[in-house]
Amino acid sequence: MDQPKDRFGRGVNYIRVSVTKRCNLRCAYCMPMDGSLVHPNNDILTISQITRLIALFAPAGIRKVRLTGGEPLLRKGIFSLIRDLKSIPGIDEVTMTTNGVLLEKNIPLLQEAGLDRINISLDSLKAERLRAISGHDIHQTVMRAIRRVAEERIWPVKINVVAIRGFNDDEILDFVQLARDLPVEVRFIEMMPTAHNRLFRGRSAIAAAEMERIVRERYKLRPAPHAPAGGPAEVYEIVGGAGRIGFVAPLSRHFCGGCNRLRLTAEGALRSCLFSDGEVDLGRGFLENAHDQWFIDRFKEALAVKPKGHGLTAASGAPCEKPMAAIGG
Ligand code: SAM
Ligand code: SF4
Repeated sequence: MDQPKDRFGRGVNYIRVSVTKRCNLRCAYCMPMDGSLVHPNNDILTISQITRLIALFAPAGIRKVRLTGGEPLLRKGIFSLIRDLKSIPGIDEVTMTTNGVLLEKNIPLLQEAGLDRINISLDSLKAERLRAISGHDIHQTVMRAIRRVAEERIWPVKINVVAIRGFNDDEILDFVQLARDLPVEVRFIEMMPTAHNRLFRGRSAIAAAEMERIVRERYKLRPAPHAPAGGPAEVYEIVGGAGRIGFVAPLSRHFCGGCNRLRLTAEGALRSCLFSDGEVDLGRGFLENAHDQWFIDRFKEALAVKPKGHGLTAASGAPCEKPMAAIGG
């Protein structure tokens, strides 16, 4: 089937799947300190339900699946899920976003399962700051995993950095240096006003233009070849460097016009926009043993209600009601 289009003509071929609401960290912009809002984990889709849905959505145009969470490496069955998704005709790419804490020891299993690419979240290069924002001592573990994956070129790596004024704005150039030294793409992300964000207030979010200005004062950048046009990130090569940098600007640059994605929450709802709490619930279909066509119809329904844009600005700040960990970021 041709790539499905929503009512604004946007082709949708990408789905982000939150495979668990649980997490081993408590990032201050994502989760309440005790994690209470996302426990327990007993109302989430099974591995075979996720596989069934993706197998139904692939003929309807989905080509690329990103596994996220919560922390996807905590999910039992994650390796067989990757293997199963990779065997679905039409699925070109299975990728993952992880906090990297459990990554290094799982590299062989992820390779064996066929993972194509990986995004690793890292908000500071300083051990104490990472402990403060995530609640855990993770610096050495995550840095070791990043170096290993990048240096051995196990997968193409993107490093997600949520930019926060007063926390890591003085590290922007250090992160660029990391992307000069290692073959990674460092992506600076504008912090979003999601539910349970304990850091979003006043001017705490930093606009991409401000970050870009800081980088350009020190480094020469040129637009990266092969960066997907209309994708969420503006990507640049650092002249003379091994890697690249990108800016993801959901608030200041409104990339909604090129949005190609749907989200499947851990509980089994299709969400057509990160910031729209209008969801299409698939759980009822599993409870009532619905036929395949019922799920395909819900997929079409989610496309039909996909909003034109999220309508957010840094000033409006109306958050989505669900914690990011349940939606998947
Ligand atoms: N636990 C995994 C991780 O941290 O990479 C995957 C789930 S996490 C929700 C996915 C991505 O969302 C991470 O890169 C995280 O930094 C980002 N994120 C979470 N809350 C955010 C917020 N309020 N604004 C911007 N990015 C956010
Ligand atoms: Fe966990 Fe990722 Fe949220 Fe941090 S951003 S609390 S690692 S789900």
